[in-house]
Amino acid sequence: MRRKMAAGNWKMNGLQDNLAELDALAQGYGDAECDILVCPPATLINQAASVSGDSIAIGGQDCHKAVTGAHTGDISAQMLKDAGATHVILGHSERREDHDESDTDVRLKARAAIEAGLKVVICMGESLEEREANNTLDIIGGQLAGSIPDQVTAENLIVAYEPIWAIGTGKVPTLDQIGEVHDFIRARLVRRYGDGVGLSTRILYGGSVKPDNAADIFGVSNVDGALVGGASLKAKDFGQIITALA
Ligand code: PEP
Repeated sequence: MRRKMAAGNWKMNGLQDNLAELDALAQGYGDAECDILVCPPATLINQAASVSGDSIAIGGQDCHKAVTGAHTGDISAQMLKDAGATHVILGHSERREDHDESDTDVRLKARAAIEAGLKVVICMGESLEEREANNTLDIIGGQLAGSIPDQVTAENLIVAYEPIWAIGTGKVPTLDQIGEVHDFIRARLVRRYGDGVGLSTRILYGGSVKPDNAADIFGVSNVDGALVGGASLKAKDFGQIITALA
């Protein structure tokens, strides 16, 4: 039985004042029957971890593949952990695009994060052109093979399927399209890692999840929760999504 997860990605949004939203989320939904993860910008991780207490896990949005070194402006997995994070999002399409991150980069970052004791949320998804060319499953298969390291467990790996064309656009795939990709990811995880890890790893859907579409999406097979961008910024919206899940 996989425990459901609602994960929020604040992206490059959030100043100290916005921690009030996290506080409201912890007060209102902290005892929900699902895991809640919030990934604020790195500048807020330390305070976010003390505001959220034990009820909400805090994660980073990226980390470097090296443990320490001459990498100005970068953050290591160990630093995220030291600041209070327990998770890190890796391979988000915005990082793949803005920072030219390859599957290999994502895999090496994931290895570093796991070695530092973090859980990884590894993102993958196709562009609109790739979907229209009927290449979605090939793209996802390649990203899955290339971005996820060998040394994962069902506890430290979470996969997020996020079609690029659905992120921040208000466009959502049909429920059949979501189900097809989630079933495919499940089958690939089982093939690569066996039933133990393959059947127990959570697969989140991300891309314009909102309070009004969450329940339908959560009803799709192999959808174990959501990675939510815009709607995770307000406790009220994210709380409604959590309620639809829990
Ligand atoms: C995301 O950033 O991962 C995301 C899914 O964004 P949104 O929910 O805003 O589409």
